[in-house]
Amino acid sequence: MIITRIFAHRVELPLCEGSYHWSGGKSVSVFDSTLVGVETDTGHVGYGEVCPLGPFYLPAYADGVRAGLKELGPHLLGWDPREISQINERMDAALKGHAYVKSGIDMACWDLLGKCTGLPVCTLLGGRYGEKIRLYRAISQEAPEVMARKVVAYKTDGYTRFQLKVGGNPDTDIERIRAVRAMLDSDDRLVADANTGWSQHEAIRVVRAVRDLDVYIEQPCLTYEECLAVRRATDHPFILDENIDSLSMFMRAKADLAMDAVNLKISKLGGLTRTRQIRDLCVSLGIAMTLEDSWGGDITTAAIAHLAHSTPEHYRFTSTDFNSYVTVSNADGAPMRVDGYMQASAAPGLGITPKFDVWGPRLVDVF
Ligand SMILES: [Mg+2]
Repeated sequence: MIITRIFAHRVELPLCEGSYHWSGGKSVSVFDSTLVGVETDTGHVGYGEVCPLGPFYLPAYADGVRAGLKELGPHLLGWDPREISQINERMDAALKGHAYVKSGIDMACWDLLGKCTGLPVCTLLGGRYGEKIRLYRAISQEAPEVMARKVVAYKTDGYTRFQLKVGGNPDTDIERIRAVRAMLDSDDRLVADANTGWSQHEAIRVVRAVRDLDVYIEQPCLTYEECLAVRRATDHPFILDENIDSLSMFMRAKADLAMDAVNLKISKLGGLTRTRQIRDLCVSLGIAMTLEDSWGGDITTAAIAHLAHSTPEHYRFTSTDFNSYVTVSNADGAPMRVDGYMQASAAPGLGITPKFDVWGPRLVDVF
């Protein structure tokens, strides 16, 4: 089996809530997602999805996915998509960096391997652990009372994990954390995710001001060194996200005892193959994980579900059902949230069927 064609379509994913706001006044109202297809000489086609959280969250942007695929595509024609480590090596040899560009192709190759073997991707990634995957809900940055109201509403949908978008004015952020924690039960988990938005002194003020509360602190500052300083000044459980964009950064943070949990995003790390490598190390080293992506629709959500379901439950902190945040469904067969949980499909591959009628024009076609 060889790759004969690589193509990509653009699809717009409007947010159900109208917009999504996080640190530094950043926001998105319609996501620009790239749906990737890898076609073979046997007629099998695998699918992937890459959706950056706007151009200002990670060093990634939507047009960059398409430009990168045009660059990479010709180097992959004629290669066996089932030999996924080789495909990754080939991608790294052809294009330095740009992990997010490679994520959609890697995801599509896993989908193909599953379709060829008749196995769901979660089986190929290690096996299905437990019945279901616990989800968190991200709460867009708004006034403290609005965020508290939203948390109450999402609790009735079954969520028991919440990630507050803070990283704004530190005094308002303290109010946000207090207002939301007051609405939760003692066994609910609350994460205050500053998304790099606080300076070091602001972060230390915030963690001191909420010291009496049960709250996790995620990625308070921009640099790893600032985060490490905050980590050493607080006894709140601590999560790193934006800084952990490679295996070497993960190993450094582990050696520094810089985190209790880590947020692994599939496209940030370059696909399921690279994410699985760090996932397996987390299991061996005792680091809990949020397993997700930067954003996306049904195909991304399916990939997250397979990654999470193949991770031992003890190490799964949370995951995200991105397809429930947006109004457009780009594929059938993706997991749907039930009472704050989802499950990976038992069908071969990612278990999804593209809805070509909602996919936009083909913007990349390499053959
Ligand atoms: Mg985060």
